[in-house]
Amino acid sequence: MNIQTIIIVGAGQAGASAVLELRAQQYTGQIILIGEESHLPYERPPLSKEAILNPDQCKLEILSADKLAELEVEFIRGQAVLSIDAAQHQLHLQDGRCLQYDKLLLATGGSPRRLPAFDALGKQVYTLRNLEDAHALISVLQPDRRIVLIGGGVIGLELASSARAKGCQVTLLEQGSRLMGRSTPEILADFLYTQHRHHGVDIRLNSQILDCQPQADQILIQLDQAETLLADAVIYGIGIQPNTALAVAAGLKVDAFGAVLVNADVQSSDPDIYAAGDIASQLRDDGVYRRVETWENANLQAAIFARHVMQVAHPKANPAWFWTDQLGVNFQFAGDMGAEEWYVRGEINPATPNPIFILFGIRDRQIVAAITVNAAKEMRHLKKMIQSQQRFATDIHLDLSRELRKLL
Ligand code: NAP
Repeated sequence: MNIQTIIIVGAGQAGASAVLELRAQQYTGQIILIGEESHLPYERPPLSKEAILNPDQCKLEILSADKLAELEVEFIRGQAVLSIDAAQHQLHLQDGRCLQYDKLLLATGGSPRRLPAFDALGKQVYTLRNLEDAHALISVLQPDRRIVLIGGGVIGLELASSARAKGCQVTLLEQGSRLMGRSTPEILADFLYTQHRHHGVDIRLNSQILDCQPQADQILIQLDQAETLLADAVIYGIGIQPNTALAVAAGLKVDAFGAVLVNADVQSSDPDIYAAGDIASQLRDDGVYRRVETWENANLQAAIFARHVMQVAHPKANPAWFWTDQLGVNFQFAGDMGAEEWYVRGEINPATPNPIFILFGIRDRQIVAAITVNAAKEMRHLKKMIQSQQRFATDIHLDLSRELRKLL
């Protein structure tokens, strides 16, 4: 097939990466990148951290206007795609334009799950997904303000860290029995809990919110234990919903969560429409469909798309990897966080100002996961151990006198 026009809907991490990879793979045809936001493509990981704490020094741009011009990309921003006509290979835009594609990548990302009772209060209630949200939080997070965070996932914990750095009084409400329940083992969740408490974050696990009401300039939150909290502002991060209304309306197959089902080549049920990033549930090597909400997965699926279109072999998937920075500590996670057994290399002590340790996740005596805490430089060795399913031995892997790089 002679591919003349590729359209990418969504100008976030996956969309921008796809542009770069298509050109890196010598695709010379037309690329149209469509973004609903008014900005050039930008990085989201700093939004909960540097973009709030050091907005002047924080560089977010993935693709500058010059780079887009150099790559000969037609960038349409501030435009929603209203519908896809898969049979005709056409897209309809908000401004009435109709665009023709040969191949289409959907990289529309996710939107914060909502708490309607809080949204109804109108003001002093925030979520965090885009640049405007981060900018709004700069003036919200001021010294001594009472901030209630709802959700003890990555957003909640990174914002707790930023809010403490700005001198706020912080309470975090998590409905589950532990922090980061979706993406960490209990041993690290316990460490995070103690560490945040140690830094003055009042964390309430198993927390149920019964009601919220405006009270003067504040918000009164009624908790289950006949307890109330007063907040100057509430920020919630309770997960995302993939933006797949377009895909669903176009007749693409989706899973029960609404994510677009894609094969190993990130192709949807329509072979000319692909999906990447937070919206894609991809068939993995073990025969299971999985949706992965990470920066790396967005890049990887974008690369798979570009290479499949250009008929070049896929990049090999590394073990799933993501990171988070909280309270000045860097955490990196690789592999299967559902591993049954976890072992500590080093000392796990949340009271230490500079904790450094590694966790090994083991299944059937093999290394299937690892977490580094302030030990990022070891991650590449650990990824190799996971990839090669290295056999784990406590007397070797936990022995600090042995360098990990020498164990490969
Ligand atoms: P998340 O990691 O899924 O965490 C949401 C947490 O909120 C879960 O623990 C959830 O508990 C809890 N929750 C849900 N409803 C609640 C309620 N009504 N009251 C109290 N707690 C509630 O989602 P997130 O933190 O909102 O992050 C959203 C997205 O941003 C994700 O895609 C994430 O990967 C991305 N992000 C990533 C990073 C990073 O990788 N460093 C940083 C920031 C954001 P249950 O599990 O019980 O539902």
